[in-house]
Amino acid sequence: MKLSPNATCPCGRGLKYKQCCRPLHRGRTALTAEVLMRSRYTAYIIGDMNYIIETTHPNGPLYRSDRVAWLTELRFFCQRTQFVRLDILDVTEEATAEDNSGQAWVTFRATLTQQKQDASFTERSLFKRHHNMWKYFSGEHLEDGVPEP
Ligand SMILES: [Zn+2]
Repeated sequence: MKLSPNATCPCGRGLKYKQCCRPLHRGRTALTAEVLMRSRYTAYIIGDMNYIIETTHPNGPLYRSDRVAWLTELRFFCQRTQFVRLDILDVTEEATAEDNSGQAWVTFRATLTQQKQDASFTERSLFKRHHNMWKYFSGEHLEDGVPEP
């Protein structure tokens, strides 16, 4: 899906896309894990699968060496998914060490539908810094217990 630069960014911060996730999609560094998380959500909406791959930590369990297969899988997921909304529920950032090797946890609720069925989930994601940039490392889905925002 194409998103106008002046459209409200779907990541939920309430800014225009051009002032929000678009600069990150064009190469600007995300200053916090939360902002990176939001920009990845928006990347799913616009179908920028290369951004998803580039912001995945290369040492994490979700990184795949077969980029073509990975892209195909991501595109398939995008094509069958409607991204309704993103809610950030909690952010915990660990004090960044002097060597800049910080990590952060972002808990979010993604409201999604697939074939008109609810496919929403709540995830606690781990982000780690890699070469001075935040990267998505791993995530675990949470069961009930996280209140609806
Ligand atoms: Zn945004």
